[in-house]
Amino acid sequence: MLNVPAQAFPASGSQQRAAAAVARSKVPLKPGRSLMDWIRLTKSGKDLTGLKGRLIEVTEEELAKHSKKDDCWICIRGLVYNVTSYMEYHPGGEDELMRAAGTDGTDLFDQVHRWVNYESMLKECLVGRMALKPVAATTETCCTLPEEKKLLNGMLPKNKVLDTSSKDLTPSYDWFQTDHLVTVVIYTKQKGMNSEMVIVDHQDGRLRVDSILRDYSYLLHIELSYAVQEDITVHIAEKVGKVEIVLKKKDNIPWSKLGQPLESHSSFIKCTDRGLCYRRCKLISKTEVTHDTKLFCLMLPQSTHLQVPVGHHVYLKQIIAGTEIVKPYTPVSCSLKSDFKEPSHYDGTHLILMIKIYPNGLFTPELDHLQIGDYISVSNSEGSFKKSQVQTLEDLFLLAAGTGFTPMVKLLNYVLTNVCSLRTVKLMFFNKTEDDILWRNQLEQLALKDKRFEVQFILSEPKKEGTGKQGKISSSLLSEFVKRSKKDSKILICVCGPAPFTEQGIQFLQNLGYSKEEVHSFTA
Ligand code: FAD
Ligand code: NAP
Repeated sequence: MLNVPAQAFPASGSQQRAAAAVARSKVPLKPGRSLMDWIRLTKSGKDLTGLKGRLIEVTEEELAKHSKKDDCWICIRGLVYNVTSYMEYHPGGEDELMRAAGTDGTDLFDQVHRWVNYESMLKECLVGRMALKPVAATTETCCTLPEEKKLLNGMLPKNKVLDTSSKDLTPSYDWFQTDHLVTVVIYTKQKGMNSEMVIVDHQDGRLRVDSILRDYSYLLHIELSYAVQEDITVHIAEKVGKVEIVLKKKDNIPWSKLGQPLESHSSFIKCTDRGLCYRRCKLISKTEVTHDTKLFCLMLPQSTHLQVPVGHHVYLKQIIAGTEIVKPYTPVSCSLKSDFKEPSHYDGTHLILMIKIYPNGLFTPELDHLQIGDYISVSNSEGSFKKSQVQTLEDLFLLAAGTGFTPMVKLLNYVLTNVCSLRTVKLMFFNKTEDDILWRNQLEQLALKDKRFEVQFILSEPKKEGTGKQGKISSSLLSEFVKRSKKDSKILICVCGPAPFTEQGIQFLQNLGYSKEEVHSFTA
């Protein structure tokens, strides 16, 4: 349920439990109803809206009339789609889609997969826009727009804020210059900033700086007055929350203004309301990890500053059969080493992704066809994991299945290097066969090298005896494995794998008495 392609609506609690109960059925779709089949249907020229290509304005009353399985319209972000033909192709099932039938499904959509590119997926189903409701005249008008339209000449434009209570905490910015440099300074007004919280892109003369402040995002988005060089330096004064972006002028002439504001410039909104931003990254190497899994090393553009926090993922975007398809992947470190005191030369300049290629999958075969030197779009990172969850930890338990191992890689490196209170880290790694175990050698080496670390392999279809236990995730297996090193020790249990595996794991742990705070699952 958590990672089905293009799933657009969440399951209810009871549906999730039902899904866990029938956990072995991984793909609930009928034959001929895959995402690729849907794409084919959208390209067939069939009239999927019933409006013969006309776009209409839809009133709430009209929308509500289309609430049946054989006539179903849904509104997402002000646009109305006729999803009747899509019903059978929706990986979450018809019932899930029906929860939003005839209504505004934006919130339901956002709860599960706000990253799914439904605009592209459902473009042939577009009926039109919601009609605007007449609004009573008011004397209060929004003052941000005219202000933002002004040229940026070192003055601070007013920021869009969500509510007055957050006003004092609203970041601001300024800029100054020397003969050769232009420095943009963002005052985040927040202590403890670090370089993972600032994402900088410079493309075609446009500077975009996204500062992540807890769950909020402050965006600086400017068309610069003059050209600057590719390499951009970012300095962060952690204690005072000041971010400096140093740009090198191409021509040493004085700038009278920084530039022109672009879309959403100076806005301060919830991260979840900010769309994903993509940049093109170059594939520089592809290395085999197992028979079906590879390490893809992607180089970020020189003018991008993006560091993905532990346990977070990025989205890759490809156009497949004319439709934009987006899938999440979790960057890993280049290896499992406990001596991570020195930052790797890859940090901040490259992303390393460990990706399993599914021969019948939609996205990964295309990815596998990329040649060294080809480019692919990579988004900003997202994720709910926070380093504070492990700061004073004593015991860490990791339950990973298949590529669900990926978030554990950086996490392992981080805790073994940085968490002084840590006494034990135990990984239980579920795979089908011996041949599927990712980085088995490295895991065994790490266990030899660092006495705090232990690994157990559980195989559902072992080829021969000797490598760990045969089995599947179960309550008895977990009760044996997850044991505090001392009474009341501070523990965290992280779970990641196929959605039903993760759901079962969480349920077993809950039944064993572990609290919500003691269990973290990695999801999109
Ligand atoms: P899909 O098209 O999704 O197919 C996957 C499998 O299902 C295939 O075997 C396919 O044959 C089968 N299938 C699909 N549709 C049907 C159907 N209708 N009938 C029968 N069978 C069907 N993966 C990684 O490898 N590495 C990572 O680091 C990683 N990180 C992730 C992070 C997050 C937060 C999440 C949620 C997922 C992550 N994934 C990761 C999984 C990844 O996002 C993709 O789901 C995965 O790569 C499969 O994509 P695909 O389009 O190639 O396969
Ligand atoms: P896989 O090879 O199919 O399975 C790995 C192990 O998990 C096998 O032992 C398998 O047993 C077991 N398993 C699979 N489905 C199960 C279920 N329903 N209940 C209990 N055990 C189950 O795994 P994979 O192809 O690598 O897939 C990895 C999954 O992890 C993908 O779904 C991916 O989306 C997800 N993932 C999530 C994140 C994240 O951050 N959320 C990150 C990376 C990957 P069987 O032989 O019995 O199937």
